[in-house]
Amino acid sequence: MYNNRRSPSRGFQGRNNNRSNGGGRRYSNQSKGSSLNPMMFVNRASGVEELPYISVNNFSDFPFAAMVHKNIQSRGYDKPTAIQDQAMTPILNGRDLVGIANTGTGKTAAFLLPLLTKVAQDRTQKVLIVTPTRELAAQIQDEFRLFSQGMGIYSTLVIGGSSINVQAKQLSRRPQFVIGTPGRLMDLEKRRILDLTQFNNVVLDEVDRMLDMGFIHDIKHIISFLPQKRQSLFFSATLPEATKAVMRNFLSDPITITIKSSSTSHNVDQDIVQTRGKDKVEILHDLLIKQEFQKVLVFGRTKWGINKLEKNLIDRGFKIASIHGNKTQAQRQRSLNMLKNNQIQVLLATDVASRGLDIDNVTHVINFNVPESYEDYVHRIGRTGRAGKKGVALTFVD
Ligand code: AMP
Repeated sequence: MYNNRRSPSRGFQGRNNNRSNGGGRRYSNQSKGSSLNPMMFVNRASGVEELPYISVNNFSDFPFAAMVHKNIQSRGYDKPTAIQDQAMTPILNGRDLVGIANTGTGKTAAFLLPLLTKVAQDRTQKVLIVTPTRELAAQIQDEFRLFSQGMGIYSTLVIGGSSINVQAKQLSRRPQFVIGTPGRLMDLEKRRILDLTQFNNVVLDEVDRMLDMGFIHDIKHIISFLPQKRQSLFFSATLPEATKAVMRNFLSDPITITIKSSSTSHNVDQDIVQTRGKDKVEILHDLLIKQEFQKVLVFGRTKWGINKLEKNLIDRGFKIASIHGNKTQAQRQRSLNMLKNNQIQVLLATDVASRGLDIDNVTHVINFNVPESYEDYVHRIGRTGRAGKKGVALTFVD
């Protein structure tokens, strides 16, 4: 477990476990660029694990296509997660569904397995999956490939940052699944390359995030092209009013499943690092040379800031890469893989990278800049402390 007893020269403040624990609460005159109370970034990992979910069903209880069952076994999944346990039967029964669940709950398989079964049974079915980020889309496709093996069912990624011509060519082969980000999907629709009226199964994933990222018009546009008769699945970690408005337009008589999870993991030790009057890069350097900082995600606010920090840390000899909106998809994927495969110690990222990323064993999340909102904070630090492992989140405050 992370040890908080460091010398004051490192800039750590003492822990305060009496923090005001109000997610999203505003506070005046705090760290530059943010109105969040820094005490919200302090919380000792309780180490108390939430009780494991006891699933009612086994995977074998679900009437999936035989190859889907086989691929679940090859994937090594033992029991359904809560969202899988509760959502897969209604989806198999053709119901519209609202799933209130975070990334990490297993929601991808919860919609992929029933939809793959549906397509296996009726090859005229087509599935559109809309996600906020390129990375999340790529992850869904990775998962799709594993579950669709040997089924003759194919998918295409339709995301920004990759060649639109290549995507157009892939779409001409009429894949049954299209997984994409809103901007590129709309782009291909406008060019009349993607015919959205064909998709009688549609998944909107991480809707709250898509709205945060300003995709509301694209989403409304995409929905307006869809056939009236369709199965619609809607996933979001939170349900602010704007997402409810999209829900009303998108779904018909949906069943709602809420997977309770605390806003921040019990496995993440959270603390702040006081940086006022100090060189933040020096502080970061002192942290990164510590042995326990093995696989670190560092979040910054701007692409420009990230680039500058990356150069500085490379000059200091750290193994490091970065992902942000200005990088091509191939560059982002390469950087992510390098962290996953332990070729680098540190990945620098803007918030674009903070949702949906599924990287094992991130030991530390460092917020070099304070996040804009508590929600962003929760998503950033959710990259560590996963799968029952302890994680540490440190936030630099001025
Ligand atoms: P997701 O929330 O869909 O991004 O899934 C989070 C992680 O959990 C991914 O690495 C999945 O491969 C994994 N996962 C999903 N369902 C299960 C399951 N039933 N058993 C074990 N791992 C799972």
